[in-house]
Amino acid sequence: MSASKMVIVSNYSYEQDNYSLLGPQTAATIVEDNTDYECNVLAIGRDFDKKLAKACIAKLLDGSKPIVGFGHLAERRDLYDLARELKEEGAVTILGGPQSNVNFLGEVDWQQYDHRFHGLKDAFTFAIHGPAEQLIPFLNSDDGQYQQVNGVLYWANGEYIVNPENKWDEANLKRIRWDNIYGIGADGPEPIKVNSVQVLHQLGCPYAAKKTQVAVDYPTNVHNKPFGKTGSITIDTCGCSFCDVARDKGLAIRLSMDAVLEQIANIPENDDGKKVPFELINENPFPVLRELLENIRARGLDISQINLVARADWLVKGEEKLRDGLSLAQSMDVRVLMSGVGFESFSDTILRNLNKGYTSKTNIEAVQLMRKLKGEYPDSFAYASSDGAIHGFIHPTPWDSADTKRDMYRNIAIYGLDKDILPSTSVPLIIHHACWLADWIRALELKEGITLNRSGSLIEWW
Ligand code: SF4
Repeated sequence: MSASKMVIVSNYSYEQDNYSLLGPQTAATIVEDNTDYECNVLAIGRDFDKKLAKACIAKLLDGSKPIVGFGHLAERRDLYDLARELKEEGAVTILGGPQSNVNFLGEVDWQQYDHRFHGLKDAFTFAIHGPAEQLIPFLNSDDGQYQQVNGVLYWANGEYIVNPENKWDEANLKRIRWDNIYGIGADGPEPIKVNSVQVLHQLGCPYAAKKTQVAVDYPTNVHNKPFGKTGSITIDTCGCSFCDVARDKGLAIRLSMDAVLEQIANIPENDDGKKVPFELINENPFPVLRELLENIRARGLDISQINLVARADWLVKGEEKLRDGLSLAQSMDVRVLMSGVGFESFSDTILRNLNKGYTSKTNIEAVQLMRKLKGEYPDSFAYASSDGAIHGFIHPTPWDSADTKRDMYRNIAIYGLDKDILPSTSVPLIIHHACWLADWIRALELKEGITLNRSGSLIEWW
């Protein structure tokens, strides 16, 4: 019986139930495996009732000293506010997950520029960046000291302290629990049964390992008004300019096949006894698809569906390997869903400003390849939005013009992209304060004497 209890709060999307839970679930598993704490995850969707959320947290803590971790928060201000209130009421609140370091510290030079994002030191007792096992010494200590713990960031005596991080250790990324997730119910926490999960193979992105410089155009529109000036600003970037994951992690770790298989062995099962669908986290999964399926078969793991996410150029280059994997998937009665291809745009101007590294020609080749494969493997391959895929499509952007719209709508019309490729709603370009594009927009502010509002950790250009 565990002596104490702690809770990890995570963002939750009822449409994409697997999406943000891998990090919090990994952390909760590590805590339970290495400390006396029982650790549950409270997954909170948007528009939640704060009073009910706090009641659920209290119930999950069950009288233990309140320690509340926050995992994948998807830049949600309502969850920051929840953390702030809990901290004011005496809880130890810990910020973890992607961008926890830069979100805790705030936007670069915010002390000199008051309109910039001031960080989250008022909402969190401390932040932790890097592997979750860094928390173990803190949880196992009697005095609750976190100041010496690796990976911790905190504020003391008017300055930030940033402790060095441990490296990722595969040993802690093998077994991940999926049976301790709760949602907010009227009478307390209600268990959430996951319908799909994520399996980690590669943390970070190989494209993000390459540093380059890109000249990003001046915006055509800001705050829904024409910007009125032209030019460009050159920035450094590693990977896609809008990608905060790229800047946060680069290419951090690639797990062995053995670790991947152990994660798969722990995936919950559907009523038919097969594992629920899982997304393989690897931005270029095609070279390992056959090997993965062969090992799954050899271990007797009964899986139903693998979801793959990839860049469009790697999909095109990976045709042969994908085809090879699909032949094996067909013989195993496994479905492969291309659940997210990073098209982002069908305008070359916009793709260039995003430093996507390919043009709309590559995007169209990827679309045509997926349609062709669907014809060849009708039962084992899926890719369409009606199959559950949500492909990357960023719109509107600050570079939209009559020319970009003409290019985009022409491609959509010629290739019928609205039938199977485009998501039901597009996502506007989101500029996180610590992605590479943020350097562009801050330089623009200084050069042109403008200030853009911040919405929490995001820079509002719209
Ligand atoms: S958007 Fe995708 S391809 Fe681009 S850097 Fe991020 S993870 Fe890599």
